[in-house]
Amino acid sequence: MKILTVVGARPQFIKASVVSKQILAHPGLTEVMVHTGQHFDANMSQVFFEQLKIPKPDYRLDIRSALHGDMTGRMLIELEKILLKEKPDRVLVYGDTNSTLAGALAASKLHIPISHVEAGLRSFNMKMPEEINRILTDQISNQLFCPTERALNNLKKEGFSERQVGLYQVGDVMLDSANLFSGRDIYLPETIPYDNYILATFHRAENTDHLGRLTSLVSVLNDIHRTIAPVVVPLHPRTHVAIKNAGLNLDVCEIDPVGYVEMLALTRRCKLVITDSGGLQKEAFFLNKACLTLREETEWMELVELGVNFLVGADPELTKLYAESWFGKNVRTDQELFGSGEASAKIVDLLFS
Ligand code: UDP
Repeated sequence: MKILTVVGARPQFIKASVVSKQILAHPGLTEVMVHTGQHFDANMSQVFFEQLKIPKPDYRLDIRSALHGDMTGRMLIELEKILLKEKPDRVLVYGDTNSTLAGALAASKLHIPISHVEAGLRSFNMKMPEEINRILTDQISNQLFCPTERALNNLKKEGFSERQVGLYQVGDVMLDSANLFSGRDIYLPETIPYDNYILATFHRAENTDHLGRLTSLVSVLNDIHRTIAPVVVPLHPRTHVAIKNAGLNLDVCEIDPVGYVEMLALTRRCKLVITDSGGLQKEAFFLNKACLTLREETEWMELVELGVNFLVGADPELTKLYAESWFGKNVRTDQELFGSGEASAKIVDLLFS
């Protein structure tokens, strides 16, 4: 059976790394990997292929664009050509980026079955490009691999149980990858305080593309850095550009984006996580850290309900208040909200069904 995998963005490399290892080890499967080029800087792409030992992509599309329509449209054109040539038995897509949607759309028009890893997530905020991508991808997928019970229930509420599709709660592949890659000792730059720091990331369009929100986030992170503890920010390229264009000054311990193993080490050592990243919210939980989420809603409501994740939006007072009270407090992580770390093995078994 030939699987064609479409990846393009940082979190997809991390998710695909564990599934690809299972595919490679399976005698009945071969994988053709397409990298769309959505993320292209060495520290947003190459480092993950090297560090996580992901097979070199068979195709690199190098599609770089700031515009959603332009990017998705060009991906669609190129992916269709590859699908016609490779004739895979299935297309495997991950998460909620433009690469996910383009891969699914190209396959569906050619009647190639689609398997969606991380299906059923909903933020219920249709202004997020990710929400549009994930809803549309779910609609045309034949196998929907849900990371959590809530994700499965979202799909059931949308009527997916009445359809001729495979609905599976398999757990979260990000737990598999965190289990595989955390705990490795790694060199971290000396500029990072050994463990007395807060780890922060932000890159969502809703935060970077609105001057008011961006200004507020920069100012509260600067304030927390000055008054509570050093804030370490591996700065996403999009955020870097937005801050520069806005003429703002992020006065924290800013570093370039790091590899996944470094990121897990940074998360393990920190005293608190502040982020708008989907993946990092879960990694904070896997590694016993409380997380302040710089959004009004999250796809990972399980964590909010558990009292380990707090939706602080772009509200400076709230963010500072929670940062003061949660700094240094570990959270319990003994609940199997994200499965048992065997999601990738389950997915690969199910590819045959
Ligand atoms: N990450 C990383 N290096 C960094 C920042 C993040 O490896 O400098 C990892 C992080 O640990 C998580 C993933 O990238 O596994 C999250 O990706 P991102 O925040 O870009 O996307 P999202 O999860 O929000 O879709």
